[in-house]
Amino acid sequence: MGKITLSVIKADIGGYVGHSAMHPDLPAKADEMLGKAKKDGLLIDYSIISCGDDLDLVMTHTKGEDNEEIHGLSWNIFEACTEVAKKLHLYGAGQDLLADAFSGNVKGMGPGVAEAVFEERKSETILVFAGDKCAPGAWNLPLYRMFADPFNTAGLVIDPNMHDGFWFEVFDIHNERRVFFDSPKEMYDLLVFVGSPDHFLIKGIYRKNEDGSRGEICASSSTQKLALIAGKYVGKDDPVMIVRSQSGLPAVGEVLEPFAFAHTTSGFMRGSHMGPLMPVSFEDATPTRFDGPPRVICAGYQLADGMFVGPRDMFTDISFDNSRQMALDVADYLRRHGPFEPHRLPYVEMEYTTMPNVEKKLQDRWEKL
Ligand SMILES: [Mg+2]
Repeated sequence: MGKITLSVIKADIGGYVGHSAMHPDLPAKADEMLGKAKKDGLLIDYSIISCGDDLDLVMTHTKGEDNEEIHGLSWNIFEACTEVAKKLHLYGAGQDLLADAFSGNVKGMGPGVAEAVFEERKSETILVFAGDKCAPGAWNLPLYRMFADPFNTAGLVIDPNMHDGFWFEVFDIHNERRVFFDSPKEMYDLLVFVGSPDHFLIKGIYRKNEDGSRGEICASSSTQKLALIAGKYVGKDDPVMIVRSQSGLPAVGEVLEPFAFAHTTSGFMRGSHMGPLMPVSFEDATPTRFDGPPRVICAGYQLADGMFVGPRDMFTDISFDNSRQMALDVADYLRRHGPFEPHRLPYVEMEYTTMPNVEKKLQDRWEKL
C-alpha cells in the first residue's frame, strides 16, 4: 500500500444547548454521508468525534492534502448538518461556514483542517486531539514539550532515533509567512516565537533525516493564516491536531504528558478570556461553566491498512485527575478577575469586540494631559 492521507476537518455548525455540546443528530447525519463516501471508494475509512460544539471528521484516503473531493465532501457534510441544526433551532447553526459556496478547499472558509500524508508503519499509532473554547495556539506548549523537552519526552535522550531532534514549522499568522526551526539547535530561537501563541503557531513537526534535512511528518495542526471573512477572523477557532506516535517518535505517554499540566489558552467565554485547558473524556467535553473552562479530548487509533482501530478515549485515565483539578482551581482564580486582565484578553485583542464603538463614542470627551 502506498502513502495514505489522514484528514481531520472540523467545524462548529450548531451548539446544543448554547455552545456547550453536540446534538446527536449532527454526527448521525455525518455518519450517513461519510458511510456513503466510504462505500463509493472516496474514503478508506472514517471516524467521527466531537468536542463541545465542534464536529470533527477524521478520514483516511489516498488523495493527498488539500484535495478538492475530500474538502468538498466535508463542506457538503457541514452544510447538511447545518440544515439539521436549523430544523432543531440549535444555537449558531452554520456559524463556521463563512463562505457562500465551496471553492475547491475549505481552508480560510471557516472549517479547521489538519492533514498528514505518510507511509503507514507496521504499527501506526495516531493520536487526534480536538479542543473547544480555546485557540490554535493552545497546541504550542504541548507540541514543544512532546518534541523538544527532555523533561517531558525521555526518548529525546534515550532513543537513538529521536536523539537528533525534530524540525518545527512555525506560522506567523498575522503576516502570512512561515519559518522552519532546527530543534534542539535553534530551540531558544523557536521559543522566542512560539511563546506568543496568539501570533506564532506550530503548524507541523518533521522527523530529521540522517543528513539533518527535513523528513516525514510527525505532527500537524489546524493552524492557518488569518483571513477576515464576514467580519470574523477565520483561523482563530477551536483547533484540531494529529500526532503520530511510537517507533522513533514520542511514545503515547510522552505525547499525553504535557496535558498533565493545564496550561492557559485564550478562548473561554466569547473567545475573549484566558483559561486553563482541561483534558477530559469524550463524555466530559461539554463546557458549561462560563462556557468553559476550555477542553481538550484525545482520540487514540491504531491504523490497519488505513482502517481505524479505535477510537480509544485517551483522557479517561484517572492519572489526568490532578490536571483537571488544577484546571478547576485556575478557573476559579481567573474568574474572580471578572472583566480585568489577565482573565480578559489584552487590550489589543479587544479591537474585534466593543472597543472600537466605545472608543468612537468617547472620542470628543478625552482631554489632553
Ligand atoms: Mg467550539
